[in-house]
Amino acid sequence: MPLDPRMPELKFALEAVREAARAAQLVRNRLDVKGIEKRDLSPVTVADYACQALVARRLHQAFPEAALVGEEDARDLRGEGGGETLSQVTQFVREFEAAATPGKVCDWIDCGNGEPVDRFWCLDPIDGTKGYLRGEQYVVALALIESGKVTLGVLACPNLREDCTLGKEASGALVAAVAAEGAWRAPLRGGDDFTQIGVSSCAEMTRARMLRSVEADHTNVGQLGQLSELLGLESDPVCLDSQAKYAVLSAGGGELLVRLLSASRPDYKEKIWDQAAGSIVLEEAGGRISDLEGRALDFTQGRTLAFNRGVCASNGVLHEKALEAISQLS
Ligand code: AMP
Ligand code: MG
Repeated sequence: MPLDPRMPELKFALEAVREAARAAQLVRNRLDVKGIEKRDLSPVTVADYACQALVARRLHQAFPEAALVGEEDARDLRGEGGGETLSQVTQFVREFEAAATPGKVCDWIDCGNGEPVDRFWCLDPIDGTKGYLRGEQYVVALALIESGKVTLGVLACPNLREDCTLGKEASGALVAAVAAEGAWRAPLRGGDDFTQIGVSSCAEMTRARMLRSVEADHTNVGQLGQLSELLGLESDPVCLDSQAKYAVLSAGGGELLVRLLSASRPDYKEKIWDQAAGSIVLEEAGGRISDLEGRALDFTQGRTLAFNRGVCASNGVLHEKALEAISQLS
């Protein structure tokens, strides 16, 4: 049975990420997008803030009691020196919500400051900020988590093709999954023309295509090379930012996605908003996701996957073999 886009949670999620993706594209087209340094030194742009504000205000309108955990917070915007960015963010939010004021924008953004509770929404307003800045892959990722299980996930992928492949003249894909109802794609630009997606059936490891982060310090490039050799992979890994990797994998455009731990951050804990939406899309497309030791991703531990190490995702058939090779890495 196809997804029912009238289901209130799904309807909200689809509208919210589509609008946020339009805002992100608008910012990119109008501004000379530069990263602004956040306290943790990762780039964050006017678009990250505008997207979180827009999704949060839609959530508040649709489900006033709902809890939201989002990547961004408005502390730096409210603080000294945040004024110029805040006025730019407000200007963009106003294109979609006439009632926006600087104060409301900050309040909407800070709706995402909540701690994970039993039922909450989880948002990465722009996952792959570095890809966004380079004009490459990024996504707006939104998921619903209930009692530690991801039950709904949507990914707006402006720089993928409609069929979730990589290539020129990409007009954008929207990918959505609801627990036990499959994974689906639709054109990002609009409409409820959903097509079901599924993972590749490739069972021959040597032919597996590996997807990895562009950013070398988000994984371990040396060990990935070792892993490719152990698995006998014939092709070089495909590098792309963000959970667009999950969209590609879920639609059969790859077989393996491995997030090894970088040598500079061996204790890194994945953030829930970087994995939640992508994980349900992949599982509903017939794939498998676990950490590097084969454990299920545990979404009950607050804002990070504190009980997991890295991520191994696959088309399912090749999962055990991949885990076995990962356990041999030195
Ligand atoms: P990707 O585009 O797959 O490289 O993933 C982007 C996400 O990686 C960002 O949203 C960050 O939250 C996350 N990230 C930041 N630092 C690290 C790290 N040291 N290891 C793994 N992921 C990281
Ligand atoms: Mg992210």
